[in-house]
Amino acid sequence: MLAARYYGIKDIRIEKLPKPTCNSKEVLIKVAYAGICGSDLHIYRKGMFVSSVPEIMGHEFSGVVEEVGAGVTGLQPGDHVVGDPRVSCGDCRWCRQEKVNLCPDLGFIGEVCPGCFAEYLVLNEERLLKVPPGVELFKAALVEPLAVALHAVGKANLSPLEALGIIGAGPVGLLTLLVARPFVKQILVIDRVPARFELARRLGADRVIQMLPKNPSEQVDVVVEAAGTGATLRGALKWLKPGGRLVMAGLYEGSVPVEPNDILEKELKIDGTNAYERLDLEKAISLIASGQVDVRPLISHILTLESAAEGFLMLTSPDIDVVKILLAPAPAVD
Ligand SMILES: [Zn+2]
Ligand SMILES: [Zn+2]
Repeated sequence: MLAARYYGIKDIRIEKLPKPTCNSKEVLIKVAYAGICGSDLHIYRKGMFVSSVPEIMGHEFSGVVEEVGAGVTGLQPGDHVVGDPRVSCGDCRWCRQEKVNLCPDLGFIGEVCPGCFAEYLVLNEERLLKVPPGVELFKAALVEPLAVALHAVGKANLSPLEALGIIGAGPVGLLTLLVARPFVKQILVIDRVPARFELARRLGADRVIQMLPKNPSEQVDVVVEAAGTGATLRGALKWLKPGGRLVMAGLYEGSVPVEPNDILEKELKIDGTNAYERLDLEKAISLIASGQVDVRPLISHILTLESAAEGFLMLTSPDIDVVKILLAPAPAVD
C-alpha cells in the first residue's frame, strides 16, 4: 500500500509498504479521506510529538472496514468508521475515569504509532466509531477536529447575552464558530489572512477583523484562542473584559511571554483544552449526520495521498488560501 511517512523536519516521503494485518481485536480499515491537522504542521515544522521516525503520519480520517479480527464483535466489513486516535496508557487514574485526554502519556496515532496517511490502517475495535450510512465520508473526516471545537465550546460555558471572540480562522476556529453560533449573541473572529474573512462571515461571524481591537468598548466576554502563538495569547488576555474567560485551543511551539498582570487585574479565568473526550467524538458524528453542522465549506482542497508533501507546503505558505486539506488515498495497488 502507499503511505506518507515522516522522516524529519519538512521531509515527508511517499512509500510503498506492506498492507497491515489485523489481530483478534483489530480492524483493517481502507482509508477514504484523511485530514491534515494543525498538530501535523507542528510535526512538519518542528518535529514535535513523533516518538520515532520514519512514521506514517495522520490522525484524522474516515474509512470503510475491510476486515475484522476473530474477536471483533461490533463491526463488520463494509461499515463506515472514524477513529478515536488518542493513544493512552490505559492504566492511570484519568484513563480509568475515561478522561483519556488527561492521561500524562497521551499520544496520537500518526505520532506514537502508524497513522492514517496511508491506503490502509489497523486499529483496535475500541478505537473506532461507526458512522451512519448515508453520511458522506469526506464530511466524516472532519469528526475529529469538530470534536476539538465541541470540547473547547463546552469549556467556554457560553450564555446567550455574551460576546465571543475567536482568534484564528483555521479549521478549529471556524468549527468553534459553527458550534458556538446558536449559544451567543455576538461572535467576532480575528485572523490575519483576509482571504478567510468571507468564509468566516458566511459561517456566521458578526464581524471579522485583522487586528485586535484597542478600544475597551470592543472587549469580549469569552475568547477561544485557536492560533497558538505568543502574540495571539497576549492579545487574547488584552481583548477580554474584566472577569472574562479564556479557552486555550491552539498548540504552541514552545514557551511564550505573556503579561500576567492582565490575568490578575481582570481576574480572568483560563481553561486549557486537550483534544476531546469520547462524548465529543460521538456528538460530532451526530451533528454532521443530522446536518446541524455543515463542515463542507471548510474543506478547501482534496488531494491525492501522493500529493501529501504538497499539502504540507500549501498549509505552511502564508499566501495560499487554504483551510482544511483532505488526502484521498488512491485505489489499492497491491
Ligand atoms: Zn486533528
Ligand atoms: Zn493514562
